[in-house]
Amino acid sequence: MSKLADHLINMKKLISFCEEKYGRKPGSVQLLAASKRQPLHKIKEVHMAGQMAFGENYLQEALVKMAQLAPLRLEWHFIGAIQTNKTGKIAEHFAWVHGVDSKKIAKRLNDCRPSRLPPLNICIEVNVSDEANKAGVPVSEVIELAEYCQTLPALKLRGLMAIPLQTEHVGQQRTAFKQLSQLFQTMNQQGFGMDTLSMGMTDDFEAAIAEGSTLLRIGTGIFGNRL
Ligand SMILES: *Cc1c(COP(=O)(O)O)cnc(C)c1O
Repeated sequence: MSKLADHLINMKKLISFCEEKYGRKPGSVQLLAASKRQPLHKIKEVHMAGQMAFGENYLQEALVKMAQLAPLRLEWHFIGAIQTNKTGKIAEHFAWVHGVDSKKIAKRLNDCRPSRLPPLNICIEVNVSDEANKAGVPVSEVIELAEYCQTLPALKLRGLMAIPLQTEHVGQQRTAFKQLSQLFQTMNQQGFGMDTLSMGMTDDFEAAIAEGSTLLRIGTGIFGNRL
């Protein structure tokens, strides 16, 4: 078996183990392979081991990979910071966008989504760590943005996403994830019908699963170090 296939299988085993450990339903935590700054041959290798969903952060890099790998029919997720002038290409080429953080970006993605494609799946990025200069909308503004997104026919609001401040302290990791998870539950009780809680990376996935993540975005834990 290839080395990366081994990493992928190992990661999936860890996910199953954590699902069981934290009383999560088996198979309830999905895996997105974060392939930014990873070469094509590695993406192919991970795909060969069964992975279909890949996350990219940089539009130009992603477009090159998509063109090269088009026959594989991978599912591409945009997980990077969204610049306004990139929304057209993002809406045309991706199946999912995880970092929607303003009405302006949402509207542009909606308006640029080609009508031949199904609605673009989106997650709203929430700033759970509350730093002044960090991406994501403040918790207090999430519901208003979510309501707005639901009025846009070419978008499908699937859930919430966060990248909390990095810390090795598991308790702090869980506190941030719990905040997002509670917001997610509260909003679903209000009828938002979201199914995706996009949280957890290589260094904090266990805490994320413990707090209810349904989608981990794992890069180095599968591919090794980035270029
Ligand atoms: C790079 C990246 C990841 C993956 O990070 P790793 O620590 O390599 O697992 C996940 N989410 C986002 C938004 C990223 O930019």
